[in-house]
Amino acid sequence: MTHDEIIEDLSAYFDGQLGPEKTIEISAHVSSCPECRAALDELKALSAGVKTNLAAAAPAGMKERVLARALERKKPQLRTSTVLAAALAVIILALMAALAAKRAMPVMFAQIQGMINGASSTLGASGGNK
Ligand SMILES: [Zn+2]
Repeated sequence: MTHDEIIEDLSAYFDGQLGPEKTIEISAHVSSCPECRAALDELKALSAGVKTNLAAAAPAGMKERVLARALERKKPQLRTSTVLAAALAVIILALMAALAAKRAMPVMFAQIQGMINGASSTLGASGGNK
């Protein structure tokens, strides 16, 4: 086989579509011919690039869709539990402050009770009754 014939058959050689005789002849030629080796390397790089792109393209879109769906599902749950936790903390702190103040200063107790009423009406207005 001549160099030109081998160059033409390199793609088939790379894909393993040639018989054993041609395969041996071409692999012997490639190992001693820089031009054919470069062409074969190009074929390898091209094939690897195509495989990488195919492998990366499909899961990338899928991943984004799955992530978007997961976030859509998680967001309202997080918001509700955060609001509930904050409301609980405010109420407990206000009650503790009110109880402590009730014993010490009756005037301050009235002020704190007003704060509690304000806090609970704010919570009611933020959609807590939904
Ligand atoms: Zn060659």
